[in-house]
Amino acid sequence: MSERRGELIVLSGPSGAGKSTVIAELLSARRDIHFSVSFTTRQPRTGEADGVNYNFVSREEFERMIAADELLEYAEYVGNYYGTSLKVIRDKLDQGVDVLLDIEVQGAAKVKERCPEAVLIFLIPPSIEELSRRLHRRNTDPEETIQRRLEKAREECRESVHYDYLVVNDAVVTAAGEILSILEAERCRTPKRLHLTQSIVGTA
Ligand code: 5GP
Repeated sequence: MSERRGELIVLSGPSGAGKSTVIAELLSARRDIHFSVSFTTRQPRTGEADGVNYNFVSREEFERMIAADELLEYAEYVGNYYGTSLKVIRDKLDQGVDVLLDIEVQGAAKVKERCPEAVLIFLIPPSIEELSRRLHRRNTDPEETIQRRLEKAREECRESVHYDYLVVNDAVVTAAGEILSILEAERCRTPKRLHLTQSIVGTA
């Protein structure tokens, strides 16, 4: 077990806020961060690979995982299950590795409940019009799904008040840069650094 426990970083934001792009930028700057690959019952989109973007499983398998208590959190989102493996996250954090979760708001609330020290970051698009443009440009979902996702986006953005940080994704490099700064600041929090003061102030 490592001396420093890894940071648990949760990134949420409506579909189309650009989370995947920001995450790719972030991971290229911080290669030591482990990105948690979630389990889902939704169908893979074009270009998505099993074990890379998600672990794609059947509803039956997902419900088995819930019953066996194998998930740190899970939620049902637009008709599909999404969840995070408890064991993978626990092992990485124990090894001192920082872990990044890309999860929706109900899941994030459960993580905060179980791990109050987790850092919750909410990513928003610059406007609802821009979000709609991005979802249409992506061209992966039928119009009805896009409309459901836009409605869902409004609901989700209301939950952003429960997050520690809010980042606007107008430009990917700027958004990723702000998240890197947040992580840097989190590492400097006094409770995580008290051991550094010992040689100066003594232990008595
Ligand atoms: P999408 O279908 O667009 O890939 O993802 C839909 C939503 O599910 C996104 O907001 C994404 O953050 C969320 N999501 C992905 N993995 C998980 C997970 O493991 N748990 C939860 N609660 N949400 C997830």
